[in-house]
Order: sequence, then structure tokens, then C-alpha cells
Amino acid sequence: MRTCFGVKTQQLISRVFRHPVHPSAAVQWRLAQSRLLSAGESKPRPSMLKHLTFKIKATGPITVAEYMREVLTNPVTGYYVRNNMLGPDGDFITSPEISQIFGELLGVWILSEWMGAGRPKHLQLVELGPGKGSLASDILRVFSQLKSVLDGCSVSLHLVEVSPVLSGVQAQTLTGGSSVESSSEDDPVFRRGETSTGLPVFWYRCLEDVPAGFSIFIAHEFFDALPIHTFQRTPKGWREVLVDIDPEKRNRLRFVVSPSPTPASSALIQPKERRSHVEVCADGGVLVQQISRRIVEDGGAALIADYGHDGTKTDTFRGFKGHRLHDVLSSPGSADLTADVDFSFLRTMTGGGVACLGPVTQKMFLKNMGIDARMEVLLRNCSDGPTRMQLIRSYDMLMNPEKMGERFLFFSLLHHSRLAKPKKTEGMKLEDKRPAPLPVGGFTEISFS
Ligand code: SAH
Repeated sequence: MRTCFGVKTQQLISRVFRHPVHPSAAVQWRLAQSRLLSAGESKPRPSMLKHLTFKIKATGPITVAEYMREVLTNPVTGYYVRNNMLGPDGDFITSPEISQIFGELLGVWILSEWMGAGRPKHLQLVELGPGKGSLASDILRVFSQLKSVLDGCSVSLHLVEVSPVLSGVQAQTLTGGSSVESSSEDDPVFRRGETSTGLPVFWYRCLEDVPAGFSIFIAHEFFDALPIHTFQRTPKGWREVLVDIDPEKRNRLRFVVSPSPTPASSALIQPKERRSHVEVCADGGVLVQQISRRIVEDGGAALIADYGHDGTKTDTFRGFKGHRLHDVLSSPGSADLTADVDFSFLRTMTGGGVACLGPVTQKMFLKNMGIDARMEVLLRNCSDGPTRMQLIRSYDMLMNPEKMGERFLFFSLLHHSRLAKPKKTEGMKLEDKRPAPLPVGGFTEISFS
């Protein structure tokens, strides 16, 4: 059944869509900053493989979570810490890098949730793992197009980023290079700046450092980069998979199954688990608990988008290098490591403190947010053949079920009050005059009537 989308959200969408953004801008892969990184790359770096083999020799086989954490975020040699991996020249490409329409629609979602929460005076936009800063930049452009809607609200941007290299790229995108790095290691804000429209931007190493306050949290392709533990069902019970040195090939790593239970295999398997191989992202669970607590205490919402499943998949741990699959254990540190997000685990970890919506497919979410109407405007304003082709190609990449359309899922955490229906009145009781809640954008079928 088609339901009518919140009128206010529809109005927001049509106001954004009226803006004649040059269509070629909507299809560009943002390459501008990718050369910023070359300077540090010539320095010889300690080998990640050597570091891992020393570690394993000293303490024994390590968990897959420890392996992933070291490979991706080791402060000296970690893949994320020293690389700019996003874009056609890198290892993978993400939706915000494919088309600015993606960020624009998320910008509308954020505004609509801020309105649904009663237009609080302060709005903190918190992005986890902002990559090149393209998504935040597209969202902020929508905010500035809809300045009058946000009138009287102070907006600030808070970025949680482990990579000093990427934080430099984000600063360039968002503040034009006018940001300053903190001189103290102890400062929770390691970089700060201001956008061209005067919004303050802060960078943190972890979510705990972001100040309390009404916040909308965005995490796009972030949870898939967090370390997972992997387990295998055996005749003796659940056992954890570990990473060890291959005794037959020098400088090679291999997977082994722990002969006895580990703290993680004892604590992280759900009693009702039916699969025989399981991946559990404990760090993701902790993060979702922190976000939920903040939403309960200070109000707000979270939108988590990633490739993932609802507790059904196994063996999704994989590597990417140069846009191709890469063996997760070979040349560690040279490739991205990732695992599909288990949204049912994240839902369980909220403990019911917040309302969870989804996961729904990217195709459904973007369609419900009005991507087709946006495409129509862009195509109408575009007479250049190659640009039209690019527009159509990027739409296809985001929406085609075989590409990103059904592999990427959207999941939201909301304060329970956001969905609370007015109580029915009985007998002589006073009528509950609260209006019915606005439908939540993206998760409700849209009708532009
Ligand atoms: N959201 C962006 C980038 C995705 S790549 C996009 O969709 O284009 C993952 C991002 O998360 C990178 O910015 C990476 O540096 C950051 N990241 C990875 N692990 C992290 C961690 N543990 N803490 C903070 N940031 C992390």
C-alpha cells in the first residue's frame, strides 16, 4: 500500500531539487584531493607483516579482530592511517563518491529528523569515518540551500576519524585548508576549522570525545571496517578462528582454529545461533550502545548504511585492492579489509533503548527519499550527451540490485518518542492533542502527489 510521505519532508525535497546544480557536478568522482597524499608516501615504513609475525611469535596466534585492528588502524602502519584509498585511483569507491545526489538525499533525511524531533536549537551532525569529506560536504550544501528552515538553529559538524591523512583531505574539502591541528596529544579535538559558511567543524579520534547534545549520527561504510571476531562450530563447541604464522612458508600467515575456547568464543555467540560459521563485530556493538545511550539522553537519530545482512550470512571477511578482491592474509596493510555488517546483532546491542528501523535496501531508501525526482530535474537541465550518460550510469550504480541497490542496507536508530502515536481517548478523558508523528524518510514508501 502506498502511504503519503510527510508533507514537510516532501517540501524539503522539492526545495532542494529546485536548485539547478550543474549536472556534471553530480556525477564527478571527487579526485581533487587525491594528490595531497603523495608527500609522506616516499618514506620507508616498517613492514606490517614483520610487525605481525613478531607479535605472533611473542604472544601466540592472534584473533581475527586483533589482526584486522592492527592492519587497518595501527597508528604507524595501519592501512587507514596512512592511505587515501577512496576513488578510482584507490582500492574502492563509495556511494558519496559516485554521485552527490546521495549526500543531498541524506541531507534532507537529517533535516527531516531534526524537524521530527521538534526543531531543537542546537544540531550536532556527527559523522563516523568521513572518508574524503564528500558526504558531509553534500549534506552541508543542502543545509545552506535550506538556511531559512534551519533559522535560529546552531549547527556544528563533528567528525570521528582515525586517519590523520584522511582528516587532512576532509579539512581541505570542508574548510578549504583553513583548519588547524591541535598542538597537544591530550586534546580530544585533534583538528578544528570552519566551513566557508561559518559552521564550526571538529575532529576526534573516537566517539566518546564528541560532546553531549542533540545529534544526528551518520555512518556510511564505517561499521564494515571495524574488527570482527570469527567463530566456527566444532564437535567440541564453538571455537574462535585465529591468525598464525604458516610453518611451511616463510613470511606467510594462515588461519587456525583455536583448540580451546577463547574469551570471545565464550562471550559473543548468541544462544539461539544456528549458523556454523559466525562473524561478530564486538566493537560495532559497543559503538551502537554508545550511540543509543546518547540518543536516549540527549535526543537525536542515527543512520547507518553499509553492505550487510540481518543475521543470515557467513564468511564475508574479505580484502580489496585496486577495486579487486584481495586475499585477506597476503601483504597485510596494502589492502582494505572488510566484513558485512550484521544488523540483527546491532539491533540486539541497542537493548531496546531506542527504536530501530530497517535494514532496508539502498534502492528502497533512495527511492523513498525521491532520487527519481532528483534525476528528472538533473536530466532536464542537461543537454550534454556524455554528462547525461554519466548521470544515468551513476544512478544505475547506486540503484541497480546487482550493483549497490540491494547489497547496501540502511538502518536507523531513533528516540522512541519520535514514533510515539497519540493515545486514543476513552470516555471523559481529555483528548490527546499531539499530532501523529511524521513518517521517517527513506523507510516509508513515498508518494509525490
Ligand atoms: N564514509 C566514507 C568513507 C568510508 S571508508 C564514504 O562512504 O566514502 C572508512 C572510513 O572510516 C575512513 O575515513 C577511515 O579512515 C575511517 N575509519 C576506519 N576505522 C576507523 C576507526 N576505528 N575509528 C575512526 N575512523 C575509522
